[in-house]
Amino acid sequence: MLREHGITPTHQRIEIAHVLFDRQEHLSADQILTSVNARHAETSKATVYNTLKLFLEKKLIRELVVDPAKVVYDPNTTPHHHLYDVTTGQLTDIPAGEVRVTGLPQLPPGVETEGVDIVVRTRPRGSGPEHQIFCSGRRLSRSTT
Ligand SMILES: [Zn+2]
Repeated sequence: MLREHGITPTHQRIEIAHVLFDRQEHLSADQILTSVNARHAETSKATVYNTLKLFLEKKLIRELVVDPAKVVYDPNTTPHHHLYDVTTGQLTDIPAGEVRVTGLPQLPPGVETEGVDIVVRTRPRGSGPEHQIFCSGRRLSRSTT
C-alpha cells in the first residue's frame, strides 16, 4: 500500500501504517508513538511526525484539528464528518450523506472547494455554561435572583 502511494516502505513507516490502518481510529501523534513503541521500541517522536507528514502529503491519511490542543490523524480519507464529545474527547464518524451544507460563501476568484469538514461538538445535556459556572475548579451554583 505504501509503495502504491510512492512511499518507500521503511520498517518504521510500516509500523506506523499498521497502527493507523489496523485500528481505523482517530489517533493523535502521541497515541501513535505509544502504540508503535509498545510493539517495537525506539521510534522517535520526530520519526512519527515526519512519517505522518509524508502520509498526509501522499493523501493516505487526513489531519483533523478538533481544537488547538487536539490534532488527530484519520485513516479514513473518504468524505465524512465528525461528532466530538467535548467531555470524553471521543470522536465518531458521521457519514457524509447525513449532513447537508447549504449556503457556502462565495469563494475568492481562482480557488475551488477541496472539501468541507464539519465537527459537531456534543456535551451531556444540562452541562452547558448556562447551567453551571465553573470557577477555578469549584462549581458555583448560579444565582437565581
Ligand atoms: Zn473520521
